[in-house]
Amino acid sequence: APSTARPHVVLLASPDAGHLIPLCELARRLVEHHGFAATVVTFHVLSERQVLPSGLPASVAIAALPGVQTDDLPAEALRGTVLVETVRRSLPSLRTLLRSIGSTTPIAALVPDFLCSTALPLAAELGVPAYIFFTSNVALLYLMHRVVELHEGATPGEYRDLPDPLEMPGALSLRRADLPDGYRSNKEPVYARLLAAGRRHRLADGFLANTFSEMEPATVEAFMQVADRGSFPPVFPVGPLVRLNSEEEAAAGASPLIEWLDRQPTKSVVYVSFGSGGALSVEQTAELAAGLEASGHRFLWVVRMPSLDGRSHSFGAGANGDDPLSWLPEGFAQRTEGRGVAVSGWAPQVRVLSHPATAAFVSHCGWNSTLESAVAGVPMVAWPLHTEQRMNALLVEESLGVAMRPRAREDDGVVGREEVAAAVKELMEGENGRAVRRRAEELQQAAARALRPEGSSRRALEDVAARWRAALIRERHSR
Ligand code: UDP
Repeated sequence: APSTARPHVVLLASPDAGHLIPLCELARRLVEHHGFAATVVTFHVLSERQVLPSGLPASVAIAALPGVQTDDLPAEALRGTVLVETVRRSLPSLRTLLRSIGSTTPIAALVPDFLCSTALPLAAELGVPAYIFFTSNVALLYLMHRVVELHEGATPGEYRDLPDPLEMPGALSLRRADLPDGYRSNKEPVYARLLAAGRRHRLADGFLANTFSEMEPATVEAFMQVADRGSFPPVFPVGPLVRLNSEEEAAAGASPLIEWLDRQPTKSVVYVSFGSGGALSVEQTAELAAGLEASGHRFLWVVRMPSLDGRSHSFGAGANGDDPLSWLPEGFAQRTEGRGVAVSGWAPQVRVLSHPATAAFVSHCGWNSTLESAVAGVPMVAWPLHTEQRMNALLVEESLGVAMRPRAREDDGVVGREEVAAAVKELMEGENGRAVRRRAEELQQAAARALRPEGSSRRALEDVAARWRAALIRERHSR
């Protein structure tokens, strides 16, 4: 149990694995490197997705708040809306929890995941610093900030479109189609919510972002200038916050997939996964299968239920008994036996990426997957599906040069089998592929440097820790 003498950091988690995992990793580092105690608070929303494959780090406490009613929200309410509302309705029990923690140890800071930012006023009420944990890159944070700027002086209810193309720091030019869902038009249902969240963000004392300066140098720099002008809280790049391979191993033990990888030659396997929520159409699934087959390379493919309604994500599980593997082409398993493995649903990704047999990653470019790939030095075939993934794909392909990008067909948006096979072969064997592979190794070294005791991310978190300690001392003196 955390020592009672240590100042306490309370972190608020939103339920997706992609948020909870890095938040827990942040909590662990605050305890193990910076001398705090930490409690991760979870909300009972969509709790079936509160998955932490390797369990919580032993040094971190967890507190689950009691459930709240959200039945009155319209059935078609967006997931984010339900979550934001759940956090808002949980504020009374959160206040009680914070008071009880605060009665035994000083609270150093409140750290809500950015989807939990409706809890910010509580930090002000209790007089503790509030630092938002931003699970994505600072490019997305920059976009949120731009939207708020765009609406300075706007009348309530007036929504303005971002320019097309949008020029981002680092000469990254975003066409409208590359903008994350929700930002493409002021008429999209979430646009107003994103603007409101962006405005709320200004109440924070700072941001902890899951990125590192070598990954997004120009945007990190741009935020320093913005913070100097005082128009936005300071942003601290403290990543990459990814699970440790050793921890995964200890938690999971033997895995048939890892045993299969153990039997493959070094750098021979293409890992294929679209994250915890990505879904391909039935036709796209078939083209990907045929492309992997035609590439002639070894592969490990995490197959999820195809989407039957044209959407590129499916956060719910399939109906009971549905097997995603039954959607693969006739005879696929037999024809690729011995060199390809297709698994249903989930793989221990951090272990797979850091395995010596893994050579490349066909990825949806979810930010956690992108960071895990960077940490493991594995080059990518960038295959974005939804949310900010198109922007992430541009970042890894154009700015960082650690990915190849297969092109979708103009008419139906499907990535054809020849295109899949060509991208995989180029990345594994080609001249351009060699350059991409080399840059992935360089990025891996940069990620490792960022996390060393003198590295940029470690120093950024220590800077934040020092601010928290100083605030505690000021507090004590003012009492
Ligand atoms: N993940 C995993 N096994 C899988 C799929 C996902 O371990 O089969 C983990 C992955 O390592 C990452 C997270 O789940 O940490 C997914 O986060 P990401 O931001 O990449 O994508 P999202 O699932 O949020 O779209």
